[in-house]
Amino acid sequence: MIYQRTLKRRVSATGVGLHSGEKISISLRPALADTGVMFRRTDVAGGISAAISIAANVKNVCDTRLATSIGVGDTKIATIEHLMAAFAGLGIDNAIVELDGCELPIMDGSAAPFVYLIQSAGIEELGAPKKFIRILRDIVVEHDGARICLSPYNGFRMEYTLEYDHPVFLKHACTSTLDFSSKSFVRDIARARTFGFLADFERLRSMDLARGGSLDNTVVMDEFRILNKDGLRLDDEFVKHKMLDAIGDLYLLGYSLIGCFKGFKSGHTSNYQLLLRVLEQSDAWEFVTFAEAEAAPVSFAQPVFA
Ligand SMILES: [Zn+2]
Repeated sequence: MIYQRTLKRRVSATGVGLHSGEKISISLRPALADTGVMFRRTDVAGGISAAISIAANVKNVCDTRLATSIGVGDTKIATIEHLMAAFAGLGIDNAIVELDGCELPIMDGSAAPFVYLIQSAGIEELGAPKKFIRILRDIVVEHDGARICLSPYNGFRMEYTLEYDHPVFLKHACTSTLDFSSKSFVRDIARARTFGFLADFERLRSMDLARGGSLDNTVVMDEFRILNKDGLRLDDEFVKHKMLDAIGDLYLLGYSLIGCFKGFKSGHTSNYQLLLRVLEQSDAWEFVTFAEAEAAPVSFAQPVFA
């Protein structure tokens, strides 16, 4: 049987919010089977006992402009995608995430610090079968020049191509393919950082956003080059970060996917459009569980797909 997973114990960290620039504390806690990932704001009036739970689910997405945000009523939480990618990549089905601010700490701009945090907590199997979404026929979204397709595939595979009219992108790989039967989320994706352009930073700052953004958590480019002293962590770090974002966004379906994701210039908004399309086209996929782990695609048959 492939079972659902959660964390073994509670773990905490602090960091800075990319947009607010405020210090934010985050705790990840174990949760029972079939809870999913639940976020709770502990800074609301009345303290933790009054905190509203916001399920990490496509139905609660409220903004996709700069990052993926979820909310219920007036309570919102922004930039959840890198933590969601870490949960997806490590196959964590159930967890409670508590934080005392309106956005996740940006950490180093990648999912690696969250992977480390989850690994420090330890991973525990629960006595309930893990549910997967298996894609049965193509689901396609085209939005504002971006294109995404989910198609049937016995495993989890990603292909991504980005396109920017900028000299840096002439020198670095703009396309990448990964099959998780032979590649690892932790080794091959998790370390890829957020990237941005100096001109956008200045525009965002004038709107009182990106206050926590710095070369410590973003790969920044001016008109010609990368400004970070140490350059890139991976030659295809830009593409890999877009894949990381997609993994995090796709996990808002609440289940791991068995299929192939192909993205062209896609981002949070088109990822969200895709999730809505998946919900609409419920005959294009099915839920599956695996009574025998050996019957599952290789990328999910291991105790931890990492
Ligand atoms: Zn990102």
